[in-house]
Amino acid sequence: MNSHKTFDVAVIGAGVFGAWTAWRLAKRRQRVALIDAYGPAHSRASSGGETRIIRMGYGADELYTRWSQRSLAQWKDFFAETRQPLFLETGVLWMAGNEDARLQQTITTLQRCGATFEELDRGTLEKRYAQIEFDGIKRGIFEPESGVLMARRAVAAVVEDTVRLGAEYRCAQVVRPRGSGCAHEVATSDGEKISAGQFVFACGPWLGKVFPDILGSRIFPSRQEVFFFGIPAGDTRFAAPALPTWLFQEDLVYGMPDIEGRGLKIAFDEHGERVDPDTQSRIVSAAMTKMAQEYVARRFPALKDAPIVETRVCQYENTSNGDFLIDRHPEMENVWFAGGGSGHGFKHGPEVGEYITKQLLDGGPSEARFSLETKATTQNRAVF
Ligand SMILES: Cc1cc2nc3c(=O)[nH]c(=O)nc-3n(C[C@H](O)[C@H](O)[C@H](O)COP(=O)(O)OP(=O)(O)OC[C@H]3O[C@@H](n4cnc5c(N)ncnc54)[C@H](O)[C@@H]3O)c2cc1C
Repeated sequence: MNSHKTFDVAVIGAGVFGAWTAWRLAKRRQRVALIDAYGPAHSRASSGGETRIIRMGYGADELYTRWSQRSLAQWKDFFAETRQPLFLETGVLWMAGNEDARLQQTITTLQRCGATFEELDRGTLEKRYAQIEFDGIKRGIFEPESGVLMARRAVAAVVEDTVRLGAEYRCAQVVRPRGSGCAHEVATSDGEKISAGQFVFACGPWLGKVFPDILGSRIFPSRQEVFFFGIPAGDTRFAAPALPTWLFQEDLVYGMPDIEGRGLKIAFDEHGERVDPDTQSRIVSAAMTKMAQEYVARRFPALKDAPIVETRVCQYENTSNGDFLIDRHPEMENVWFAGGGSGHGFKHGPEVGEYITKQLLDGGPSEARFSLETKATTQNRAVF
């Protein structure tokens, strides 16, 4: 990167939020620098997993339902244009037991937003998905047009296309800008200066490390472990379309069918311990391993003794309640924060990019829920 060049916008962080922001800005013919300390959707990034769910259901939360709908359309357009089939329409099955209220809210919201879905009673569930044990489950809804984004590769594709559109990408660690008023440049840890008119820090779980005074107590990176169970030889019951992506919120658990032969994916959505994304161990714990094995044995009896064929340890970058953080730095008017994906942000990458671009270039209307002001220093999760 030419250190004397001035960019319109420097985007720091090439996870899903930064990549889509840079892409959208480049589409608007901005001179964009996209900088990441380790690389697009690398192993330690929150966007670094193989797969992420895109679903429309968000309980009563219409904002994220509508963002999901618009984001899915944009993901599909992008994959069609770049000829990369990185969205898999596996369908998404929501299951509900005694705490049925949320399912009902989801139904109402999906109806209001015109999303396609089907309601399934217990009998239909059992008939259609004989490989699942529906113990504790009374009914469900199925979103046939939702599914899975091939996350890591999708981010790499967005970054590649951003560069094709004229942006400059480089691997460097950016040091936090200091002072107040207007920032003119940021420095990298090897001393290079990058000048730009505006700066977007899309640093995911690192936001609290980059801005410890403001965000150190407002972004809560939590350890999340993911397991893949091997499917019996020649068995197609655990791949789509036989098995969709599924969620059962009462157990705070979700999973995916066998995709690309990686095995049945299962993970718990409960927040794990607070971690540092640079240094946390990426080896799964004995306790979570046991929990995952027990859950799979209970919910998928045919996989009772299935071997774990892969594992992954990642982190959520939670805000206090799960709403995104997209706002200006309180003291530097041309410095922006973009993060707080809180375990559900990946799918929304395209809309995040669109929203930030409008904020930067058009002074678009801002959503109060994304403001820094609404981000508390104690956790009280409200978005799932
Ligand atoms: C296990 C797991 C499962 C999930 N499941 C889903 C799901 O099914 N559906 C869904 O929608 N979402 C899901 N999420 C959430 C989603 O993946 C994240 O919210 C999203 O990927 C966050 O993207 P990001 O761009 O904000 O952060 P990141 O992807 O972490 O990107 C931040 C980037 O900033 C860079 N960076 C940081 N500091 C600096 C610096 N000083 N200089 C240069 N670069 C820097 C980092 O290297 C990193 O690449 C899941 C998350 C996890 C961990």
